[in-house]
Amino acid sequence: RALPVDSSKDPGSRTVKGACFSRVTPQSLDSPRFVAVSEPALSLLGLSADDVLRDPQGPEYLSGSKLMPGSEPAAHCYCGHQFGQFAGQLGDGAVCYLGEVESRQQINYYNPCGRWEIQVKGSGLTPYSRQSDGRKVLRSSIREFLCSEAMFALGVPTTRAGSLVTSDTYVMRDVFYSGNPQPERCSVVLRIAPTFIRFGSFEIFLPADDFTGRQGPSVGQHELRAQLLDYVIETFYPDIQNRHSDRKERNAAFFREVTVRTAKLVALWQSVGFCHGVLNTDNMSILGLTIDYGPFGFMDRFDPEFACNASDRRRRYTYEAQPYVCRWNLARLAEALGKELPGPEAGAILDDYMPTYERFYLANMRRKLGLLEHKEPEDQELLADLLDMMYYTGADFTNTFRLLSQVPWPVGGEEEELREKAALEQVVGRLLDQGASLEELKVAHYPTMESRELDMLLSMSETNPGMFSIMASKPEVAKQLGKLGRLKQLMEVSHEELTAKQREDWLRWIQRYRRRLARECEEGCDKLTVEGLKMKRIQTMDSTNPRFILRNYIAQNAIEAAEKGDFSEVQRVLKLLERPYSAQPDLEQPSWTRGVAEGTCG
Ligand code: AMP
Ligand code: MG
Ligand code: MG
Repeated sequence: RALPVDSSKDPGSRTVKGACFSRVTPQSLDSPRFVAVSEPALSLLGLSADDVLRDPQGPEYLSGSKLMPGSEPAAHCYCGHQFGQFAGQLGDGAVCYLGEVESRQQINYYNPCGRWEIQVKGSGLTPYSRQSDGRKVLRSSIREFLCSEAMFALGVPTTRAGSLVTSDTYVMRDVFYSGNPQPERCSVVLRIAPTFIRFGSFEIFLPADDFTGRQGPSVGQHELRAQLLDYVIETFYPDIQNRHSDRKERNAAFFREVTVRTAKLVALWQSVGFCHGVLNTDNMSILGLTIDYGPFGFMDRFDPEFACNASDRRRRYTYEAQPYVCRWNLARLAEALGKELPGPEAGAILDDYMPTYERFYLANMRRKLGLLEHKEPEDQELLADLLDMMYYTGADFTNTFRLLSQVPWPVGGEEEELREKAALEQVVGRLLDQGASLEELKVAHYPTMESRELDMLLSMSETNPGMFSIMASKPEVAKQLGKLGRLKQLMEVSHEELTAKQREDWLRWIQRYRRRLARECEEGCDKLTVEGLKMKRIQTMDSTNPRFILRNYIAQNAIEAAEKGDFSEVQRVLKLLERPYSAQPDLEQPSWTRGVAEGTCG
């Protein structure tokens, strides 16, 4: 149900009641032109990149400056819990829905009806624009464009980006933060997904909230919620719709499926070192897709506390917090479904979420380690010890896993011994190469607690040991004290001593890992089977552990070039990220894969 709004006559934000969408008109850009297009994403719409690039009106159509025939643009009304608080009505403030394209060839698990929704992001004012202007600039658009396509190529469910357009329309940004703000070019990303409906889309049906006063429909809200829920389930979860004649059972099955998909999604994020950064309920897809690329980051050095959103002061959205935060968000979705989903059912489903997540995560990590033939209870410990090693040596998350396929398969036999020893030393050398330097490690382990507070705490260990032990048992404090202890050790060692110690630690872990690999081969495994297992392990690992991820500085390079009018770096990075598992000598830069050489060692 959509209400008509003429955004040229009715600009600025307002509370919209009794509707899920508002009709709007995207604002046109001056001289729109392509920065880049994604061939695979455009093909979802039945478009060829060449045709689009050749069409003089291509940038106009794909930026919403000109409307495609049949398009009925609208902005979506949603609410959200932001940083743990209900924020009332939000909605598409910079995004405009253009319509849907039917594409029967492109049916898949996430898109059973083969319908692709098209949006332009950065297309100007809507009733939901709040304090801003509904525009986006190159910086944010390049990041969203590249990361959407990078995630897809990594095999992580995501919304897609078909094209990126820049223009001669200008806006001012970050006026309050930058000493010398410059006008920036408006740009528009064409986004594609089966649907952009989110958890927050259901939160407009929560009971009215006097504090925010930005609440959604109060009249007929139960009917509208039922309508939206029916639409989502019938269109995107047809199996669930067909399997259940009882409405309550159908809804519970739907909610269970959303929790499973969310668990699967977070497990994938964790296994490629992706941190979303703004896991508010309005940024949680009802299909289990990665949605809304803002301050996201892939971690370089492995650190469970990695955070990428500077405005997340309380560090709610760190890497290690993601699985728990998503569970919290699922609980908010359950609440928003109200009487459509009885509490006890919702609770039981939520209870299964963490175990489900753990299962997905461990399965992903086993593949990353190439442990494919059977499971062992000790695998978890092997993994935990690897992650510890990575943390203490400041290892690069991506490069470390990429290197592990080079650990030689244990063959045994005396004649092999020397060759193996050389190969192992080579791997360890590479692992040490891509780890952090002593100076980098000192910075990494610097306690984040204020030094005054830390001093007070330490003096307490003498003046009031009882109180100190109570304080030190708090996880946050324990972490800080652990960092301090580690920092002290680092202050006392030389570069050579540290390297020798790390070499020893890596070798010890690798030998354990190889003993585990040996057990992949069952009792009496013949030579041919061993050869097969060796090949399968390397192939699986090298198609699970990416060689390229969108590191922050890689995106930043592309942004800086594009701001100067050179779009070739955006295009090159896009090409590279479309095949994240393959070496691409003519596209890549050596610094992007520090320490990673291809091929098995030895
Ligand atoms: P986000 O943090 O990206 O999820 O955005 C939070 C809210 O701010 C959403 O309702 C957006 O639609 C809105 N918003 C984000 N950017 C803009 C913009 N440039 N102009 C107007 N509204 C915006
Ligand atoms: Mg958002
Ligand atoms: Mg955003």
